[in-house]
Amino acid sequence: MQICEIFASIQGESTYAGLPCVFVRLSGCNLRCSYCDTLFAYEGGTVMSPDEVITDVSKYGIGLVEITGGEPLCHTETVSLAGRFLDMGFRVLVETNGTIDISGLDQRVIVIMDVKTPGSGEGDSFLTRNFDFMKKEDELKFVITDRADYEWAVETVGRYNLGEKCTLLFSPASGRLSAAELGGWIIADRLPVRLNLQMHKFIYGADMRGV
Ligand code: SF4
Repeated sequence: MQICEIFASIQGESTYAGLPCVFVRLSGCNLRCSYCDTLFAYEGGTVMSPDEVITDVSKYGIGLVEITGGEPLCHTETVSLAGRFLDMGFRVLVETNGTIDISGLDQRVIVIMDVKTPGSGEGDSFLTRNFDFMKKEDELKFVITDRADYEWAVETVGRYNLGEKCTLLFSPASGRLSAAELGGWIIADRLPVRLNLQMHKFIYGADMRGV
């Protein structure tokens, strides 16, 4: 597997924010989002076997592991790696951009899946049938760049009845929309979604890598 980095940090997004977590960031992504903050993960990295990844993660002694990227499902080994972590007793999060079929993932995996909005520049990339595989424990994340994205997200939530499927996260795109403005829209519309901020950026700064 092409590994960009493995590190321990505070989980920064999703309902797991604030918990200690080991991140396995795989290299490579099939998208090029306009707000991407992990450009360094597009290429390069170190080739590691799944056994080496597991050894590296285990040494931290933290029970929560997140497999992320880039796009982790670009690597076929991600499915079996997640299963091995689960069998070892880890709680496993897989963060994916929603463009690749998630149906092969173990049911115990907690999926945190982006739904790319038009403002991402990758608005047509989502694999709609992935909605059918979401479980109550999973989380869908919309990164919102402006009011048009917000309205698109609200319409998408309604059209696919997503509020019934799993937790919904609305995040302001860093540097493009303020949390206060997005929060105001959510309150005004009484939306049953969670305002999702990138906690790691508040803790470590917006440009810090490996945290
Ligand atoms: S899916 Fe994620 S890693 Fe890939 S380009 Fe978009 S924001 Fe960056």
